[in-house]
Amino acid sequence: MTAGTPIQAGEGIDGSGTSRARCVLAPNPSLMTLDGTNTWLVAEPGSAAVVVIDPGPDDAGHLQRVTTLAAERGQRVTDIVLTHRHADHSAGAPRLAELTGAPVRAVDPAHRLGSEGLTAGDVLDSGGCELRVIATPGHTSDSVCLQIPADGVVLTGDTVLGRGTAVISDDGSLGDYLDSLRRLRALAEETGLSALLPGHGPLLADAPGVLDFYLTHRAERLDEVRAALAAGDRSPAEIVARVYAAVDRALWPFAESSVRAQLRYLSEQGEVPAG
Ligand SMILES: [Zn+2]
Repeated sequence: MTAGTPIQAGEGIDGSGTSRARCVLAPNPSLMTLDGTNTWLVAEPGSAAVVVIDPGPDDAGHLQRVTTLAAERGQRVTDIVLTHRHADHSAGAPRLAELTGAPVRAVDPAHRLGSEGLTAGDVLDSGGCELRVIATPGHTSDSVCLQIPADGVVLTGDTVLGRGTAVISDDGSLGDYLDSLRRLRALAEETGLSALLPGHGPLLADAPGVLDFYLTHRAERLDEVRAALAAGDRSPAEIVARVYAAVDRALWPFAESSVRAQLRYLSEQGEVPAG
């Protein structure tokens, strides 16, 4: 989910990726989902096993396309993994599980099918392709990223998007989110990440640059909220009207959840009374 970016055609996104990760773009474009949800197929070259990350919406044509693309490469879907619980990433999981017989692995137990969960620190191995689960709460409490060390990339779900910036949901936390961005930034530095593969929008080649931009953007928005409070704004709606004045009004309801997250953060920091 993003703020302030126009909908664009998904040209170049569908079929993009790396040696081990390939994007299948779902047909659900909107202000919040950008070009649509990126479903990622991850497999070791030559392997008969493939992992599907974020099946996307419950769209029969999209899910059929995912299974057909896997079958064309002689691959069987062995696992379905969710980056977080939001429906534009998860709603297609039960149908894809039915089509493939693969379990659904998710941090949120309500979204799992099968006995295996998903926990930060887990290392999934599908036909020789290692996927490391990284805790990145913030956008939602259950958000994770998935690192493919062999390709030097991280699948970021909605924690980092291909355009614009992510929204903090009402069950998310700005404090957690900033910590997650800093952890990803450190990982980019330590391992020399070559790209971030987002849940919406195009692949991001400059991982450290994008993460720095996200951290700077958050700090600027927090300063704007502090200034709005100092100017006498009190309700999230008042603050949105001032801070997000340049942003499409259709996005204001989503901006409001980010502002609520910023107010929670400032009260955790002792800067404003808990409201
Ligand atoms: Zn989301």
